Amino acid sequence: MIRIGHGYDVHRLTAERKLVLGGVEIPYRLGLLGHSDADVLLHAICDAVLGALGAGDIGKHFPDTDLAYKGISSLKLLREVMALADGQGYAIGNLDATIIAQRPKLAPYIRAMVENIAVACRADPERINVKATTTEELGFEGRGEGISAHAVVLLQRPDLGEQPSL
Ligand code: MG
Repeated sequence: MIRIGHGYDVHRLTAERKLVLGGVEIPYRLGLLGHSDADVLLHAICDAVLGALGAGDIGKHFPDTDLAYKGISSLKLLREVMALADGQGYAIGNLDATIIAQRPKLAPYIRAMVENIAVACRADPERINVKATTTEELGFEGRGEGISAHAVVLLQRPDLGEQPSL
């Protein structure tokens, strides 16, 4: 049994906020604005997992009107989303995500992001892929107004193999 989900998220860049991507704090003069830590990559991944489960989206599970989620680490949200998947017997088959940001350079932080995601998902890091791209200065990401992220996840339920034919 396999299920596929897609997630997409955008957050605005602003002064006086930390930039947190994949649970890694990245030194930069701007950070992402949001109710939680605004980790746009982890939000896209949470939405991909919820999508695969047919369980709605991150806003439904963690409303931004709920003070419990103010400033919360999105790694905690991802762990909660994965607990839902686990409850239905699903684990990460593989996960692929793309961060779209003109600045700062993210390559030095990708490995640490992958490790954080693997731990939160209780998955082998080999099953997790994170990449980053610019937009050649086009669009809101290219102008440095915000950062977006896409994620695609394949969940699999290992306990159900091939059904024996009757
Ligand atoms: Mg978000």
